[in-house]
Amino acid sequence: MILMYHHVCPAEQVPTDVVPLEGWRYCISPKDFRRQLQRLRQCGWMYVDLETYVAGLERGETRRNRWLSVTFDDGWLDNFQYSVPILTELQIPATIFVVSGTMAGVPSERRMSVAQLRQLHALKIEVGAHTRTHPNLPTLGDAQLREELVGAKQDLERVLERPVRYLAYPGGRFNQRVVESVQSAGYDAACSVIGGGWNSAATRYWLYRDVFTDEMNSLKDRVKSSPVWRNLLHWRAERSVRQRLHGQ
Ligand SMILES: [Zn+2]
Repeated sequence: MILMYHHVCPAEQVPTDVVPLEGWRYCISPKDFRRQLQRLRQCGWMYVDLETYVAGLERGETRRNRWLSVTFDDGWLDNFQYSVPILTELQIPATIFVVSGTMAGVPSERRMSVAQLRQLHALKIEVGAHTRTHPNLPTLGDAQLREELVGAKQDLERVLERPVRYLAYPGGRFNQRVVESVQSAGYDAACSVIGGGWNSAATRYWLYRDVFTDEMNSLKDRVKSSPVWRNLLHWRAERSVRQRLHGQ
């Protein structure tokens, strides 16, 4: 399983002057965030970094060992302020997918600075790419697509002086052409939100990620968090991915 988060922030700190691109509807409180991580550990999941997770797909270790990897999209400042300290305390590695360029209408002070991004490696947090400007990738022409994918990788590698190996699709959107462009840009794997159940070597370039409700108390949450019941969700995944690959 891979978890996807965006903002982790106390309700009273959420700004009121926001644009849709900031995705504040995907905000969880630090208290609920910590509780989710602890609950999943109690359910038998073992936290690993994305490199371990991806490497284990081929031999089925990822599923067999109930490996779980934590990811965040966009690169918000609140991740640095609230989630990173909790992850460090619980000794959980994670990946943050960062937009390397400008995000239209979003104040830069709400995003992590380069200085903050540089501190993440020592805290066992890897930086992945989330394109340059957060576009809807399947709608782009080939040249623009390549610039968003190759450009973001180069931007981040230049300032971090480390390889950037993973990508998350903005809005989870991809198709076959986008996947091919991601592969030729040199990424090792990519994350989406389309699918369900278990990831495998076949889903390496559209790794499914889970989102739980804040309190994690719905029936679906309980099914997903149980490694045994999770098998029930698996049958739906393949069909939804097939539709996505061949659509826009
Ligand atoms: Zn995003």
